[in-house]
Formats: sequence, C-alpha cells, structure tokens
Amino acid sequence: MTAVSDLVIPQPILDELVAHARSLDPYECCGFLAGTGNRVSKVYQIKNIVGLEGAAEAASFDEAKVRRLSSLSPEERAEIAFIMDAQEMFQAVKDMRKQGLTLQVVYHSHPHDPARPSVTDIKVANDWEENWSRLNLTLPVYLLISLMDKSKPDIKAYWIKGGTVSPAGLASV
Ligand SMILES: [Zn+2]
Repeated sequence: MTAVSDLVIPQPILDELVAHARSLDPYECCGFLAGTGNRVSKVYQIKNIVGLEGAAEAASFDEAKVRRLSSLSPEERAEIAFIMDAQEMFQAVKDMRKQGLTLQVVYHSHPHDPARPSVTDIKVANDWEENWSRLNLTLPVYLLISLMDKSKPDIKAYWIKGGTVSPAGLASV
C-alpha cells in the first residue's frame, strides 16, 4: 500500500490547506481531499463544530474561549480536537460521487502541536475504519497541518490502520 508517493498534491492545494489552518487558528480546521488515482484535485473544507460552535468565521470566536484553549495542555486540547459537521461531510461525499472523484484524504490542523496524529486522532481514525467501507469508500490518508512554527507550516501524511500509524508518501507538484 505504501508506494513512493501515496499522494500527489498540487502546490496551490497545499497552500489552500495552510490558509484554511491559519484562518481558524487557534482552533483546528478540518476537511477532505478528493481526486482521481493518487492525484488530489479538490478541497472540501468541513466545518469543525468544536472550533466554530455555530459561528461562521474566525472573527466571531469568543475571546475568553480562545484564551482558555491556549492555556490547555496538548493532551487536553487533543481531547477537544475536531469534530466534523456530519451534514457537510455527507454533502462532500455526495458531491465527490457526482463529480466522479474519490475521497483520498481526511485533513486537519494542529495549531500548537507537531504534524503527527494525537492519541485522540488515532482513536477517532480507529472508530471510523469500518465506516469507510460501509460507505463504499476506501481508507483515506490522514493529513496533518502543523502551525507550531507559525512561519513554517509543516504538512505530513499518515496511514492509520488497526491503531497503527505509518507515514504515507506525499509529493507536491
Ligand atoms: Zn489532531
């Protein structure tokens, strides 16, 4: 399963992911990538219902909550992590089917932590492992965008299978 590059992502799409992550910092952004074969061609930003709490934009985040979030430990933050809006998820999958695209990637950002899956991320991925096939979808690659160094975003991709994390090959064009 692990080829030299499991995924080929055009640079403008990587830039869009970083922009999405920055726009929601200090909350995590999340979404799907879809395309054909191993080449990604489309971003589906999905609302993070933990981060947004019904708000549409980063500008409307409650100051007190932002302060509270940054005072939490990485473990505590990982617990609240991200929860994708279910309706938007299914809308995205429906649109992919209509356009003949395959769901390839589930992405989210780590505003304060490295670009590797947290304990919670692995647990959630585990919980979802059966759902993908139930939805007639193949196991996606998990992509992490780290803003730990704000001036140097780090993007890494992983397979999460049976609770085991392994690096996925990522190439940009
Ligand atoms: Zn995470």
